[in-house]
Amino acid sequence: MTHRITLIPGDGIGPEVTAAAKRCIEATGVKVSWDIVLAGQEAKEKFGELLPQNVLDSIEKNKVALKGPIVTPIGDGFRSVNVAIRQQLDLYACLRPAKSYTGVKSLYRDIDLVVIRENSEDLYVGIEFQQGLKPTQDLISLIEKYSQKKIRPGSGISIKPISQYGSERIIRFAFEYALKNNRKKVTAVHKANIMKFTDGLFLKTAREVSKEYSGKVDFEEAIVDNMAMQLVSKPKNFDVLVLPNLYGDIISDLCAGLIGGLGIAPGANLGEDKAVFEAVHGSAPKYKGLNKVNPTAMILSGVLMLKYLDERIAAEKLENAVKEVIAEGKHVTYDLKPTPGDPSAVGTQEMSDAIIKKIK
Ligand code: NAD
Repeated sequence: MTHRITLIPGDGIGPEVTAAAKRCIEATGVKVSWDIVLAGQEAKEKFGELLPQNVLDSIEKNKVALKGPIVTPIGDGFRSVNVAIRQQLDLYACLRPAKSYTGVKSLYRDIDLVVIRENSEDLYVGIEFQQGLKPTQDLISLIEKYSQKKIRPGSGISIKPISQYGSERIIRFAFEYALKNNRKKVTAVHKANIMKFTDGLFLKTAREVSKEYSGKVDFEEAIVDNMAMQLVSKPKNFDVLVLPNLYGDIISDLCAGLIGGLGIAPGANLGEDKAVFEAVHGSAPKYKGLNKVNPTAMILSGVLMLKYLDERIAAEKLENAVKEVIAEGKHVTYDLKPTPGDPSAVGTQEMSDAIIKKIK
């Protein structure tokens, strides 16, 4: 069977790492027909839009996309193309596994964590009120009237909505993921002691949903600041973490740090029937076009995609090839070498060639 997949090269290092991932996926023998569409800076230059409608239409039609990172323009009236894709297609679950690979220099070995971040709510909905404007002053007056609390004059306001519906579906997603993937424990991460009606609702919902999985998957809860400390001191105590949007973003980068950096951290954004696979890292503009950065995070996002497509053998072959190349440590990019500036580091495409050679 041939899979029709949307490919979004993205900005900065995006085109290089997606090209590498595309070649590696094809080398597994899986048949793919790619629908290549532009979003980000190149789309803006060619079509005058950062996120043309044909990108969303292509993902709606093909149901699966592989996406390179896209720059978030500052002050362009568009908060983030990445967030817009997730929100417009209702890709509500962000899956970010953090797994140790032998050969990567990092503080820990044998880390095997999965971060599941809620993708559609929280401070990321983008409802913000700028300091000093009339609507902001009106809103502040209204809040003061209803809350009986004072807001400092000249404040900006960001809105943080968290719903029972959004919490329930992400928490259920986390438990179902744990069941299907033989995981033992789900930890719900929150700050409900301070934000009683948003994080509090998330936590209350987590406690309720967890009862349905009692005896099958363990449940525990952790306050986000304590979670950050415990992840650094005892990361092996955790298995699957489920978090509201903002904490999920921060904690998943922390987990990428536990396994040796952004160069090897893959991700997926999943909805009911659609999925967009992308690395945790951004477009690293200073490395654009240098054939320098690590393609692993994007290739491992391709592995997640192959699993999603039920191409288990191809996924395993590709992941094993990545593992071997990293463990040998010869044909790897600068970030995987033991010392900075190591002259034996290879480029993005050379590391991908080495991975392709190992695919059996
Ligand atoms: P970044 O992840 O692009 O880069 C930070 C640093 O991490 C780089 O300077 C580099 O040292 C390292 N790094 C990143 N990817 C690497 C790789 N593949 N191999 C080796 N080292 C790597 O973060 P940033 O500089 O904060 O963001 C740059 C742009 O990307 C911003 O506009 C940001 O909004 C955007 N961004 C996009 C996404 C996405 O598309 N999903 C995610 C994060 C950031």
